[in-house]
Amino acid sequence: MAKKQPKLPEKICIVCGRPFTWRKKWEKVWGEVKYCSDRCRRHRDGKTSDKGGES
Ligand SMILES: [Zn+2]
Repeated sequence: MAKKQPKLPEKICIVCGRPFTWRKKWEKVWGEVKYCSDRCRRHRDGKTSDKGGES
């Protein structure tokens, strides 16, 4: 009766330090995901942004 709950991988966000769970949208880039959300990613990127720098 009980539904199976597949265990999804988890990671810790390097910005906010919280665990987050695998999402469908990350299925192809999961190995590179470091942030729980775009907000956290921006938070980190934005810190050293005055003059744009891609490197
Ligand atoms: Zn985060």
